[in-house]
Amino acid sequence: MGDIINLLSDTIANQIAAGEVIQRPASVVKELIENSLDAGAHNIQLIVKDAGRTLIQVIDDGKGISKADAKMAFERHATSKIRTADDLFSITTMGFRGEALASIAAVAQVELKTARQGDQTGTLLRISGSEIETQESIACMPGSVFSVKNLFFNVPARRKFLKANETEFRNIITEFERIVLVNPHIAFTFSHNDAVIMNLPVSNIKQRIINVFGKRLNTQLISVSAETSFVTVTGFIGTPDSSRKRSSMQFFFANNRYMRHSYFHRAVTHAFEPFINASDAPNYFIYITIDPASIDVNIHPTKTEIKFENERAIWLVISGAVKEAIEKSSAGHGLNFSNKETIEMPVYDHNREKKSNIEIKINQGYDPFRNQKTYNYHSNVSNWEQLHSDTTTIEPIEIHEIESAKHRQSPSEILFEERKNILIYRGKYLVTPIKSGLCFINLRRARVRVSFDDYMQRISKKQGISQGALFPEIITLTPKEVAILPFLLDELAYIGFDICDLGNDSYSINGIPAGLEGIDPVETLRDILDKVLETGCEVKEEITEVLALALARKTAVQQSRNLKEEEAASLIARLFSSSSPNYTPNGKSIIFILTDEELERRF
Ligand code: ADP
Ligand code: MG
Repeated sequence: MGDIINLLSDTIANQIAAGEVIQRPASVVKELIENSLDAGAHNIQLIVKDAGRTLIQVIDDGKGISKADAKMAFERHATSKIRTADDLFSITTMGFRGEALASIAAVAQVELKTARQGDQTGTLLRISGSEIETQESIACMPGSVFSVKNLFFNVPARRKFLKANETEFRNIITEFERIVLVNPHIAFTFSHNDAVIMNLPVSNIKQRIINVFGKRLNTQLISVSAETSFVTVTGFIGTPDSSRKRSSMQFFFANNRYMRHSYFHRAVTHAFEPFINASDAPNYFIYITIDPASIDVNIHPTKTEIKFENERAIWLVISGAVKEAIEKSSAGHGLNFSNKETIEMPVYDHNREKKSNIEIKINQGYDPFRNQKTYNYHSNVSNWEQLHSDTTTIEPIEIHEIESAKHRQSPSEILFEERKNILIYRGKYLVTPIKSGLCFINLRRARVRVSFDDYMQRISKKQGISQGALFPEIITLTPKEVAILPFLLDELAYIGFDICDLGNDSYSINGIPAGLEGIDPVETLRDILDKVLETGCEVKEEITEVLALALARKTAVQQSRNLKEEEAASLIARLFSSSSPNYTPNGKSIIFILTDEELERRF
């Protein structure tokens, strides 16, 4: 038998690697603009045609690239930003992996015109599918112009995978927003198909936010600021009355880089809770500055999650700062508060944690949102409110008894002492004794968790149960919705929607998921599309989750408040056998346990 292992050609290897970094036009935009920022540009222009399919051009007045380096810049692992492994820990630039340009050049036709300040002549370089086609001297201004044409021209499968122009364009805007919001000291312009989309002069953060999202924000932003020994939190939140059900603006930045952080998101929503309706989402633009050594820099460039060392402590600072800001602002209308007044921030104390005599096993890998398969429980304290008053920090823990016993009994059997012993309190909470104390369950949230899991399962098994409608309802989509519905039709069908394309952006809804009888099908579908658009998810699994969550919420609202005891028992059983009984899919607590010891202490 002959040898079967071949070395991949560079071109193929680059194309494969490119798939990781460059998934869509928006990824090119992000990488090019980040390079311009790293090059010290003061003015950056983004020019896009056809949602980035035909052209993405970034023009900067940064430091430019020398003739010799120009070709190098497109080599894989070519970076001018790190030289030693140690540099990794003190990274201040956006890029450092030296992958972006190589990846882009592997899957597009790229033209670079560049010159450094003082260069006699500049360089023109044309690369197509990793092959250098032209390199010559030209006259050009100091700075760089990267033009990326016909993205994925040589990877038809990828090109086909691109979504409708509206969606890709929306993704570009999203990427652009994330960058410009942390660089108010740099001027940006952005045009699409020759129309100016945004023109952003140098300004401060607040003005930049207003320039990006509109003048109406002028009166709706409250500034937030907190400084502790280990973290600084600044930025703006929307006034409580500017919170909306839809399209809220929610941004976290860590050391000037956009990030998602569902745990910190809860810190903000927690602070807002007393001030807004549960169904509304607050706006926020929060900038976290922290020692880079205490965050995980070794993350993939396309990922937006960041790991922090002291997440709980930062959680408290964020929540405290937001709360303080809201209180001050509403005080601004009535009471007269001194601006100097500051709130006591809890200070994180490593030693304190070690001294803590609570015997719990900390689950380091704990992530309330992702950890789907193990049963995690807060023990003594499952309420952050209490953490505020009691600085003994407690991490969500794994109860090992439960883990090991899981195979013999179902978790619900282990937890329940008396199945029949369930109190339905005010139609909102279920209260039931468990081994270690008294368990309070938020009814609506429990229902959301259970039906979310149910919908996710229906989607994965592709077996939705549809309830035929007496009269089909017709929905006519907005252009934004048109960009997204066709892409969701399969998932919607798996969940139980029976939707039929009537042409001209109209669809008829012939059936809805069983269990959702009585809802307004058109409104429900609109809400779902809205949620998906607003979340701006890019990954199919995420979209599916948003879809399932939107439906789960609808279902929970539909379900009656007067549930019977048997229904309560079955709900609890289903909750405890769900993927994550402790939290709703978007991270709200479902369960609170009042332990026996805690109870004893009260008397
Ligand atoms: P990385 O940004 O991770 O270093 P890239 O592939 O994005 O890798 O870029 C490779 C190199 O090309 C950079 O390290 C930088 O030296 C150079 N470069 C890229 N874009 C620009 C630009 N707009 N201005 C100046 N230099 C640039
Ligand atoms: Mg880069």
